[in-house]
Amino acid sequence: MKRYLFLTAIAVALVYYSCETRHRNDYISLQGEALGTFYSITYNCPKNKDYHSEIRTLYRQMERSMSIYDPESVISVINESETGGETDSLFRKVFKKSLEISRLTGNAFDITVAPLVNAWGFGTTSPMDPGPAEIDSILEFVGIEKVRLEGEILVKDDPRVRLDMNAIAKGYMTDLVAGFLESMGVENYMVEVGGELRLSGRNPDGNLWRIGVDKPVDDPAPAGRELQVIIHITDRAIATSGSYRRFFIKDGRRYSHTIDPHTGYPVDHNLLSVTVITGTAMEADAWATAFMVMGLAESLEMAEKNENLEAYFIYESDSGKLEVEYTEGFSGWMRETPPEGKPEEELPEPVEK
Ligand code: ADP
Ligand code: MG
Repeated sequence: MKRYLFLTAIAVALVYYSCETRHRNDYISLQGEALGTFYSITYNCPKNKDYHSEIRTLYRQMERSMSIYDPESVISVINESETGGETDSLFRKVFKKSLEISRLTGNAFDITVAPLVNAWGFGTTSPMDPGPAEIDSILEFVGIEKVRLEGEILVKDDPRVRLDMNAIAKGYMTDLVAGFLESMGVENYMVEVGGELRLSGRNPDGNLWRIGVDKPVDDPAPAGRELQVIIHITDRAIATSGSYRRFFIKDGRRYSHTIDPHTGYPVDHNLLSVTVITGTAMEADAWATAFMVMGLAESLEMAEKNENLEAYFIYESDSGKLEVEYTEGFSGWMRETPPEGKPEEELPEPVEK
């Protein structure tokens, strides 16, 4: 009998407490769980106001719209329906951005991958160990051109079409919270949902926000976490997608949870992790997934051409060593990993970009 080994590593090795609120230097920190992942929010509010309940309401709205684990969510009703269904404004916003990124990436990013995600065991059903014939038959109803918005109705051309917004929804949740905080007059914040981030203003020490990019090591224990690079940054969004974080091993082979919508197979190349910096977390999230599909050479070229996108790639060389490539703009935010035994605080202050 074939055996599947599912491994899930922790994206951001912070200690989370369920829905906890803490205070430091007039900054408030909130932690909790939403959409199957963890969130962590730190902000400085002139009125020292705790917005946790308003933020949790936003998360619930997201879950009612895009959670494939809620059978009554907008996305689940559409997935189960023969012809499509009604949408809400959150869904339409993410759908429209998904279409745009599909177009820009030659459909490397495609939210109609859900049947493939399920077939490979990363969705709501158990793995089916699909063979080539089965993948071919599933590909007949995968493709973003098979769905469209008609007013507020999402129309499916084929009843078997199913949507999966997991590669962009966490980013959008991050943006929603950032937008809410801004509307409340908050200027300094870090919002993080499942590893996707939005940053503004300054951190509690009055510096730029410091964000570590994980080394793509297999050991999922927080103790095994090592940083590849530290970036000092603000007023931007950052997302990381990595084949090392969620995958399964079957017959000694590793299968990534990112699927190439053209072939129907999990991506299989030397790229281990992609970190994208851009204006919104929704876009950073989707681009990071698209770049994982496209592979190093094509992604690096595309990121260099697009002045709004900066990207950092960690890949495995032919000799099995970890190597990195990044866009020129990305290097403006980078700081060296602190040398062993030397705390980050002792490094020279970053020059603001
Ligand atoms: P992570 O940040 O955890 O690496 P991603 O943002 O890359 O996650 O999203 C991965 C999820 O997106 C998969 O689990 C699957 O549900 C979905 N997905 C997989 N391949 C694609 C694709 N080519 N386009 C859009 N969504 C995808
Ligand atoms: Mg993504």
